[in-house]
Amino acid sequence: LEEQVRSLQTSTPRKYPKVKYLNYKNRKRILITGGAGFVGSHLVDDLMVQGHEVIVVDNFFTGRKRNVEHWLGHENFELIHHDIVNPLFIEIDEIYHLASPASPPHYMYNPVKTIKTNTMGTINVLGLAKRVMAKVLIASTSEVYGDPTVHPQPETYWGHVNPIGPRACYDEGKRVSETLSYAYAKQEKVQVRVARIFNTYGPRMHMNDGRVVSNFILQALRNETITVYGNGKQTRSFQYVSDLVDGMIALMASNYTQPVNLGNPVEQTIGEFAEIIKQLVGGPSVIKQSKAMEDDPQRRKPDITRARKLLHWEPKVPLETGLQRTISYFRNELARSDRFQES
Ligand code: NAD
Ligand code: UDP
Ligand code: UDP
Repeated sequence: LEEQVRSLQTSTPRKYPKVKYLNYKNRKRILITGGAGFVGSHLVDDLMVQGHEVIVVDNFFTGRKRNVEHWLGHENFELIHHDIVNPLFIEIDEIYHLASPASPPHYMYNPVKTIKTNTMGTINVLGLAKRVMAKVLIASTSEVYGDPTVHPQPETYWGHVNPIGPRACYDEGKRVSETLSYAYAKQEKVQVRVARIFNTYGPRMHMNDGRVVSNFILQALRNETITVYGNGKQTRSFQYVSDLVDGMIALMASNYTQPVNLGNPVEQTIGEFAEIIKQLVGGPSVIKQSKAMEDDPQRRKPDITRARKLLHWEPKVPLETGLQRTISYFRNELARSDRFQES
């Protein structure tokens, strides 16, 4: 073994994506909780390329080492296996707090854990921010608006959430997470930013994610029935992940402390969305309606006036472009899992 290790150490060093050099004044130590997940790993990429030091904390419930493996061993990168429900003591300048299951099947799988993660986990993150005087961005959600009675949803809308329904562990968890942020801001002078994220999709979504984008694309690629829950008249507005990451970084850099919607205002019904995916993937899949989800929000579309005005941000990637990239990602994932099954 000694011989093998020595020969590996002297062999060509590992190659990484190119990162900018930042001097110590501009280089920040940035913690990303949930950084091995879908959105978090894209945020890692952008912040690493900008030249910052990035520390990912993740319990790998839905995240994967594979999402950040291209940075493992890089001198600016650290990956810590840790559950944010437990306290965390490290020294950092900024925190992006994303740790939480995000898809309905995942957050409903263990509702108590989802609540703990969004309450106790957020308290730990805010306690950490207070001790080291770090700025924190909380990844909140359009779910704080519940099944909305106002359309599209501006940040001033207080929401319409069933506090005891199957989605409550997530919706109320995120609402408490927001409440905690403003309590720490007021009482402890912690600098907080709150992003209310609307449906986001893109490469690195988990194959078993269970959200509509991955379900429909995988069903179409496998020539299976595309399952629309309910009558398909409910609406969503989908944003591509790179737009979200740009918005989160702009929000962190801004002086604005109130919640900001980050989403793409182009809205469609889920029935129309099934047709779009079927057409882009091609193949013989048929679209069928199945049992409706309990408490499924009927309409969702962000009002992004605030983000446009304050962050000069708006989504850039059209749905078709984003979906093509995501379809090609899932095609590769399917080929990869077939290869694993064969070997
Ligand atoms: P994801 O499931 O891919 O990522 C969540 C990450 O958090 C995973 O890596 C998971 O392992 C980790 N995690 C979960 N519980 C943890 C715990 N207790 N301790 C440490 N790590 C933990 O989901 P995503 O889509 O990347 O979502 C990221 C964040 O953005 C979440 O907070 C989610 O609520 C929020 N959000 C996402 C969307 C979306 O459409 N993707 C919409 C609204 C809000
Ligand atoms: N905390 C943490 N890391 C730190 C500082 C605090 O995880 O660097 C946790 C701490 O364990 C506590 C929570 O954050 O449970 C809230 O901290 P705060 O200082 O607000 O509360 P207190 O410690 O006074 O109860
Ligand atoms: N949906 C569907 N078929 C699926 C998965 C989801 O029709 O296989 C519907 C779901 O009922 C909801 C919408 O698609 O109306 C978005 O669901 P998703 O779980 O992606 O996210 P949500 O916005 O509900 O958190």
